[in-house]
Amino acid sequence: MFTYEGNGEGRRRKVRCSFCGKTQDEVPKLIAGTGAYICTDCVQLCNMMIRDEAESMKVPLPSTQDKLPKPEEIKEYLDRYVIGQERAKKVLAVAVYNHYQRIRSFAKSSDDDTELPKSNVLLLGPTGCGKTLLAQSLAKFLKVPFAMADATTLTEAGYVGEDVENILVRLLQSAEYDPKAAEHGIVYVDEIDKISRKSESQSITRDVSGEGVQQAMLRMLEGTVSNVPPKGGRKHPNQDFIQIDTKNILFICGGAFDGLEQVIARRVNKKTIGFGGEIVSSGSQANYELLKEVRPTDLTAYGFIPEFVGRLPITVALDGLDYDTLVRILKEPKNALIKQYQRIFSIEDVELSFTDAAVSAIATRTLTQKTGARGLRNILESLMMDLMFDLPSQAAKISRVVITEDFVNGDGEAEIMERHSREVA
Ligand code: ADP
Repeated sequence: MFTYEGNGEGRRRKVRCSFCGKTQDEVPKLIAGTGAYICTDCVQLCNMMIRDEAESMKVPLPSTQDKLPKPEEIKEYLDRYVIGQERAKKVLAVAVYNHYQRIRSFAKSSDDDTELPKSNVLLLGPTGCGKTLLAQSLAKFLKVPFAMADATTLTEAGYVGEDVENILVRLLQSAEYDPKAAEHGIVYVDEIDKISRKSESQSITRDVSGEGVQQAMLRMLEGTVSNVPPKGGRKHPNQDFIQIDTKNILFICGGAFDGLEQVIARRVNKKTIGFGGEIVSSGSQANYELLKEVRPTDLTAYGFIPEFVGRLPITVALDGLDYDTLVRILKEPKNALIKQYQRIFSIEDVELSFTDAAVSAIATRTLTQKTGARGLRNILESLMMDLMFDLPSQAAKISRVVITEDFVNGDGEAEIMERHSREVA
């Protein structure tokens, strides 16, 4: 927009901001567009409006939402992603509900002196049985920031390895550097059993005792104001810190706890002996039944300091995955592996199906690998590799691919139907 000033020879074109109408002399800078101008003041104003709008679109934290999802609703959501593990899903749903209720009650009245304890959770269960998936799904449902850490990499401050505060750095990153959101997040610490005193001698990568790491984690689990270096790494004096209060962060710790069943067996006076007098190997189903009877004293006997155990008041043992559960995991969850591959094929307009015998063969092979459901993905990935390679170039010619038992066992090819339903291989 522009106007003219003066008469005759002295007549000068005066450029104005098309939004506020101020002239070039009245604003720091005027930016020209096609047929319009905008001043830097208006640019700043627009920026603020966009930021405010984005802020108002942010999902409110569970603790400030009018309606907190009930344990039943939380479990219903977990059911869509996690197969089996009924007890763990129930316990977690209640723990999470109570956790956010506790924060809400603090926010409403600070003069009530009934202390509600923090409900950090300890998950015991073999690898690949869904511990991480449970924690991740909870955070997704509640729309809170989520971070994962591996306890084996953590050390006390000053030792080679990661400071425990680095867990909070990841949480802060997941919260897009919003400390308030991070303070309501969920942290999953994997391999927590590896920082027991018992496992000290097994660690060659850590130059610090497991007990030292437990001590370092104590305050964080309970609630402390931590100075977090926003970019992570070691703290150094000239760095800016962001303060994170951990009192409302829910910590879920998980581990396989190999050998804990022997500790429990000694207490309950049962022997971990299987049929025929064989010692039941660590990790078997019978022993996971024993894990369900775990008590805090068993965890201290396993090598955890009592204060650490005390800060993880909710303990739940997960089931090892059996054949039937593996078959269900392949097919049923909302993002089941088979559904994922079918989706990829359908984008190329090719139908993909698995025979029941093929699904059974994949589950059976996974069971022998003892890697839980994690093995399903590995097996499927190597199985589907060549087909995925050929799919984009062959998609125009084929209409359907059937994964058969022979193909899974390496005794034959997948059945491929040409378009117009003529079989070509
Ligand atoms: P871990 O118990 O070792 O933490 P994860 O939760 O990481 O195991 O599981 C690895 C993968 O296996 C997950 O991404 C998920 O796809 C699958 N999985 C494991 N357990 C289950 C389950 N109970 N239901 C559905 N999928 C599962």
